[in-house]
Amino acid sequence: MRKPIIAGNWKMYKTFDEAVDFVEAIQEAIPSEEKVDTVICAPALYLPTLVVAAEDTDLAIGAQNMHFEDEGAFTGEISPAMLSTIHVDYVILGHSERRELFNETDEAVNKKVRAALNHGIVPIICCGETLEEREAGSTEAKVSGQIRAALEGFTAEEVAHMVLAYEPIWAIGTGKTATADDANAVCGAIRAVVADLYDSETSETVRIQYGGSVKPENIVELLGKEHIDGALVGGASLQPDSYLKLLEAAANA
Ligand code: PGA
Repeated sequence: MRKPIIAGNWKMYKTFDEAVDFVEAIQEAIPSEEKVDTVICAPALYLPTLVVAAEDTDLAIGAQNMHFEDEGAFTGEISPAMLSTIHVDYVILGHSERRELFNETDEAVNKKVRAALNHGIVPIICCGETLEEREAGSTEAKVSGQIRAALEGFTAEEVAHMVLAYEPIWAIGTGKTATADDANAVCGAIRAVVADLYDSETSETVRIQYGGSVKPENIVELLGKEHIDGALVGGASLQPDSYLKLLEAAANA
């Protein structure tokens, strides 16, 4: 059985003090990492402090983006080498907000995945369709294209350790969730892409999250589905109590 993974994506929210208080508030109640992998992807500025705050807990800290080069003249960017020197464990790559608002391409995502692995950082690779694409019946084509592009050049063993995240764009921050069956169907299609590119063992090992208005009220049903191994959570990861409820649901899934 695949271990569930819950990753909070704080986006561009929280002051420094709020970020530190959050970790303090949840640390005693985080379920054992034997049951669930617990991640918070925080604004880059807070990462070193949060890594230290989370040191003796089962909370892992992730970044929300990074450049693919180790260093260079890239004003304002943060490199995978920098993230690994402060012991960041995860990085979200290819989030739809970065694709849409910051022109992140499939090619850049692929390079970033390579860079993350080079530095021992687990990539959480996002894919998802717009409402127009869903209505046009091209959800699977869009999502499988993004996944094939992101995974180009990787071995089965490398892919087995990655996390994939299906996030329908129309469900992000809108309060609209895909039905658990629809989310499961697309996560199953992603798993089939991995099986096609590699083998069934790899596709049965890789973890696939659903994201898009995940809340304590819908997480149990989502996690009950065959192909959904966790959640990438924006809004509901911002408050300690709702985040802890998600973790509890995952630990008992
Ligand atoms: P949401 O965000 O949970 O607020 O919909 C999810 C995401 O963007 O990862």
